[in-house]
Amino acid sequence: VGLVISGATGRMGRTVARLAAADGRFELLGGIDREGAPGSDEVPLPITAIDASADLLSRADVVVDFSAPPFLRELLGRLSGGIGNAALVTGTTGLETADEAALSSAADARAVLRAANFSVGVNLLIALAERTAAALGTDFDVEIVEAHHRRKEDAPSGTALALGDAVARGHNVDLASVRQDGRSGRPGARPTGEIGFHALRGGDVIGDHHVHFIGERERIELTHRASDRALFAAGSLHAAAWMAGRKTGRYSMTDVLGL
Ligand code: NAD
Repeated sequence: VGLVISGATGRMGRTVARLAAADGRFELLGGIDREGAPGSDEVPLPITAIDASADLLSRADVVVDFSAPPFLRELLGRLSGGIGNAALVTGTTGLETADEAALSSAADARAVLRAANFSVGVNLLIALAERTAAALGTDFDVEIVEAHHRRKEDAPSGTALALGDAVARGHNVDLASVRQDGRSGRPGARPTGEIGFHALRGGDVIGDHHVHFIGERERIELTHRASDRALFAAGSLHAAAWMAGRKTGRYSMTDVLGL
């Protein structure tokens, strides 16, 4: 599988490159990144600026993207210009509603998978959160707490939002109508059905997620802790191998993992 890594000089991009280089399923064609990102001397694969990436992208079977929303937007713009037919696997978080629409229109011409999290454990946690919320209903208040390293730029994490979406599906509501990010001042009594989000930031935490279901006399806590970033990189490569040669359309980790 011919692989191009987008955001190749970042923490995730470098980890994906390292694992792909040692994985016989992949041929590493190169990386793309923004102008001024570290060059090939710091990252063990050739880096092409996005402006000059048309030829590289046209040769790819799969593009794996861990970058930032503006860069993913630019990549989608270029791909929608009709460059090649590579599948796109993206883990970039902090996307806006318009970006979701852009991913869907890219999926008219290629296979597209977006995942807030590539770990088997988190995807199982998402399924469990939906099931638990459906079983318990809104008598149990739901609070989602996540922790990440101090350099993370967006909050709450994409995984926390995916967990919130799952809980909202279990409650048969739209997340946007019940989402509450943090509390301060005098927010007043907690409305029934609210889904609270809290983001801890510090040190080198790779990613912890807790979903609290808080009832009158008992509580359930679902927890996942990631201890190595390579977990997500390996998951994205598993998805990349699965996506190579798929027909056009949107896919999710649920499809890849058969959950
Ligand atoms: P990072 O800051 O180390 O790397 C970001 C990469 O994107 C760099 O190569 C940078 O040069 C490039 N980039 C291009 N345009 C940029 C811009 N405008 N602003 C910032 N960077 C830009 O970050 P990371 O830890 O590798 O994470 C990258 C993305 O992947 C983030 O959105 C993060 O939340 C997400 N992530 C997803 C998962 C998952 O499982 N889905 C896991 C970890 C991280």
